[in-house]
Amino acid sequence: MNDLLPADAPLWQYVEGVVTDILARYGYQEIRFPIVESTELFKRSIGEVTDIVEKEMYTFDDRNGDSLTLRPEGTACCVRACEENGLLYNQTQRLWYMGPMFRHERPQKGRYRQFHQIGVETFGIQGPDIDAEVLVLSARILRELGVAEHVQLQINSLGSAEARAAYKDALVAYLSNVQDQLDEDSKRRLSTNPMRILDSKDANTQALLNAAPVLLDYLDEESRVHFEGLKSLLYAVGVSYQINPRLVRGLDYYGKTAFEWVTDKLGAQSTVCAGGRYDSLVEQLGGKSTPAVGFGIGLERLVLLLQAVEAIPEGLDQQADIYLVAVGDVQSVAMQLAERIRDELPFVRLLINCGGGNFKNQLKKADKSGADIALILGEDEVKAGKVTIKFLREEIEQQTLDFDKAIAYLLALE
Ligand code: ATP
Ligand code: MG
Repeated sequence: MNDLLPADAPLWQYVEGVVTDILARYGYQEIRFPIVESTELFKRSIGEVTDIVEKEMYTFDDRNGDSLTLRPEGTACCVRACEENGLLYNQTQRLWYMGPMFRHERPQKGRYRQFHQIGVETFGIQGPDIDAEVLVLSARILRELGVAEHVQLQINSLGSAEARAAYKDALVAYLSNVQDQLDEDSKRRLSTNPMRILDSKDANTQALLNAAPVLLDYLDEESRVHFEGLKSLLYAVGVSYQINPRLVRGLDYYGKTAFEWVTDKLGAQSTVCAGGRYDSLVEQLGGKSTPAVGFGIGLERLVLLLQAVEAIPEGLDQQADIYLVAVGDVQSVAMQLAERIRDELPFVRLLINCGGGNFKNQLKKADKSGADIALILGEDEVKAGKVTIKFLREEIEQQTLDFDKAIAYLLALE
């Protein structure tokens, strides 16, 4: 679990700002729900024989003896919150949330025990138009963050439950013949969760899969038509994709569309954004059957990607625009002036020197703050009712002006 230090916070704020701004532009609304939920919720949604539920959840008994779990993902929580508050009754929803998720995994680059997701969930819309919309939206996020050329969209259709069951049988029949050549995890999954074998990182297992039955050949008619509809919409709006017939998700509730945005810039942790359709989850959790599609963006990986490809805008580390240097016994006037500037130039970040110090020492701090301008207030200035405006980065002559004129001058600069 990581601390986010002040030096890194501006980059996070920038990324979160770009994403939430785009979500607002698409008409998505924020929802917030607790970090802790009943353990049952995740067992019933994610699935008992998934990695998350089997070995990654932070589960504990509270004082009443109820089993609670720190949320490992947001979709199940979002469905629970919507159901409990009647948000799915006769209406559609386009929602987003942002916050920490918890999984007890082996920590490595791009994989942490507390990580952060921005999640998007839509409810009540059945057709491929909404699948296309969330994909177009995710494409815009990556494009406006300047990483579009370093990511690739992979899509697949997981079909209906019946189609998956038929495919599972065929896959198990095929893999059982080569069982002894599979990696250990895959051997175990053959009886618990065979489709996850498609996801195996083991090169030998992947080679064996080359001749295995292909999920797309087992699709039911409805899923096939849905998938075709999605592909033609993506084509129409110019979002390119690759069909990856081995793409499966590590959570049981997905059906029909599944997708991932992957990158080759982050080593093994290549998935930046992942999601799909989960039409059966609401009903499975006790609600009325409600179609749904969504995705989650891993924020740590997105930030790592921006760093890796140097897609970080300039000036993010700048703490202030103006630094008020206050030398001598001038603190009360300095504070009054600072408050006036904050009233009249609300878009300016003004850092006032606190704790004294001589002129040279304060000017050093002004420089370190990244400010473009130092306002200098000494005892002589205070007596004359004036302040000096000194440009720290540009060759502009410094000015000593009355407070009113100084503020008007600063206003005219913006
Ligand atoms: P992976 O295959 O990488 O373990 P996942 O399928 O378990 O991912 P999801 O549950 O689909 O992941 O979560 C969506 C996104 O959240 C992932 O694509 C990834 O960007 C991010 N993510 C998942 N687990 C972690 C983690 N432990 N640390 C950091 N980010 C994570
Ligand atoms: Mg995982």
